[in-house]
Amino acid sequence: MTDKKQGKLIVFSAPSGSGKTTIVRYLLAQKDLDLEFSISATSRAPRENEVDGEDYYFMDLKEFKSHIKNDDFLEWEEVYRDNFYGTLNSEVERIWAMGKHVVFDIDVVGGLDIKRIYPEQTLAVFVEPPSIEELKIRLKKRKTESEDRIATRVAKASIEMATAPQFDHIIVNEDLDTALGEAYELVKNFIK
Ligand code: 5GP
Repeated sequence: MTDKKQGKLIVFSAPSGSGKTTIVRYLLAQKDLDLEFSISATSRAPRENEVDGEDYYFMDLKEFKSHIKNDDFLEWEEVYRDNFYGTLNSEVERIWAMGKHVVFDIDVVGGLDIKRIYPEQTLAVFVEPPSIEELKIRLKKRKTESEDRIATRVAKASIEMATAPQFDHIIVNEDLDTALGEAYELVKNFIK
């Protein structure tokens, strides 16, 4: 990895559907925070409206595995079967070279990996849905996943919730405005 270690790493992890992406987008729009989104690599297919090089670096399984072999990833996970996700070292270097802090929207295992690799420079935040029931409702409303994929995500959510105490902070996303305010304050204090 690079010698340029002046930037901070802000990790948001949560079960799928807990609202972390909304929080991350809000933070990115706050220009005083100097944040840049870490675009992950993934082997899953793009959803409608997703843009390669903006939402993710989309690649097939073969390309993803060759990056694993070359040790190009800071962290990677097979989040769902045959759906690999990972953070390329080059992505963090790109953002630090811009003089910005890196913000991650990644799964709990990847988030905790980053905290372990860069304990001092990382703020690891867990976004908790008010309940598993509410999470189910939100995933259904989103209409991006089929019924069985929703069931997979909900089952995984219970396991992910158990990791929450390992994070630096937990934000319960019951009321979105409150959650946004809390997230802003946490990041502002951490980067100053
Ligand atoms: P989705 O398919 O809904 O975009 O993402 C599925 C899950 O993969 C989410 O929990 C998301 O945060 C996680 N994810 C996205 N990028 C990465 C990454 O680079 N590393 C890891 N470990 N997880 C990621």
